[in-house]
Amino acid sequence: MGQGLSCAATQEHGLFSAVQSGDLDTVKAVLERDPSLMHQTTAYDRQSALHIAAANGRIEILSMLLEGSMDPDVVNRHKQTPLMLAAMHGKIACLKKLIEAGANILKFDSLHERTCLHYAAYYGHSDCLQAVLSAAQSSPVAVSWGYARFVNIRDDRGAAPLHLAARQRRPQCVRILLDNGALVCASTGGYGCPGSTPLHLAARGGSLDCIRELLAWGADRFQRDASGRIPYLVALKHKHGACAALLNPSSAEPLVWPSPLKFISELNQEAKALLERALMEANKEREKKILKGTAYSLPSPSHSDSGADDNISEASDTELCCICFEQVCTIEVQDCGHQMCAQCTLALCCHNKPNPATACINPPVCPFCRSSIVRLVIAKVKDCEDADQEIGDIGSPKMRKARRSRNFSNEGSSSFKGLSAMSPFGKMGGRGSGRLATENEWVDKP
Ligand SMILES: [Zn+2]
Ligand SMILES: [Zn+2]
Repeated sequence: MGQGLSCAATQEHGLFSAVQSGDLDTVKAVLERDPSLMHQTTAYDRQSALHIAAANGRIEILSMLLEGSMDPDVVNRHKQTPLMLAAMHGKIACLKKLIEAGANILKFDSLHERTCLHYAAYYGHSDCLQAVLSAAQSSPVAVSWGYARFVNIRDDRGAAPLHLAARQRRPQCVRILLDNGALVCASTGGYGCPGSTPLHLAARGGSLDCIRELLAWGADRFQRDASGRIPYLVALKHKHGACAALLNPSSAEPLVWPSPLKFISELNQEAKALLERALMEANKEREKKILKGTAYSLPSPSHSDSGADDNISEASDTELCCICFEQVCTIEVQDCGHQMCAQCTLALCCHNKPNPATACINPPVCPFCRSSIVRLVIAKVKDCEDADQEIGDIGSPKMRKARRSRNFSNEGSSSFKGLSAMSPFGKMGGRGSGRLATENEWVDKP
């Protein structure tokens, strides 16, 4: 009897270590001998074989267990599902497989009542985060709970996934969450210091990248936590000097992702990514100015100086933006087909803030023909011959091709001066751009 028990225990142990090490053959052999072992759990944490497979990224074993009709939502001692462990360890293939097999994305653990979305955000696995969000859009969760509610789901201390991502210095997750409707100014209940916003938590964590993302989405530098502190004071307290400099209410305001863009239907993903990048670059330029002369220099950023240079040299035969005459046209306005650079597109929209008095939000219009902007798409890069053939087209902004004579030598540092100086249109008059609309939709906000 005793022998039998210890034999089962050995087999069980053999099963779990085989799952952990990804030894599919042994797992198969053990389960063939005793199929009931599939439902065994480890002694203390009560992890199932499925948990161990998910946490270790053992996709073949995980698939086999699921095909053997193992419940994908089996929970361990802390009511964690295999899905949560996959999100925690960034095992994207296992996470996707579990979702395919019908794993519930709306389960809460018993530690802090967190979901798999919290886990992905906390541990910074943006691919897993994205996969869970995609699943949420098409799953019954969206119907029963509402997608926005799911994105902003709170744990037992009032922390939404965005709070965790900001605190743990996960800028990519911060961006994805914001992009999916996470509330940028939501306060926690008891997580961190009570009443903390994501910006307070990013200040606590000391991540410039997270702070930049949050500010670009309109996070409020003046919002106070329950003890009356603004994010600036939190950064100071924790000696994150560069963060504090940006959060200092007397520093220049960052550019905020312009609300009119949200009203342009079908802003396609590529165009959006391009514009977002331009916005971030513009804000980085500002940061440099703010930090210049302080003790804090920017940590060498993910900033793609080299990438930008590549684009410029590749694009030397393409069209120069007719507004700033500095950047290459990368954005095309539809339906009219006029083109401009991402920086000018953003400037146009940033300057076209809704009038708070009328509360009426007018989408921006094309600066060339004043027709309303239906879509913004990536401008197609023409090769030389195409462009030459079209040179006779007077109606096309491509006529100004000749102006491309400016060199790009100091482009790296000055490419965003149009935006940061907020006056990319100041040059229009002197440039003979008579075709540009003259009404001042883009005048500075008061
Ligand atoms: Zn431009
Ligand atoms: Zn136009």
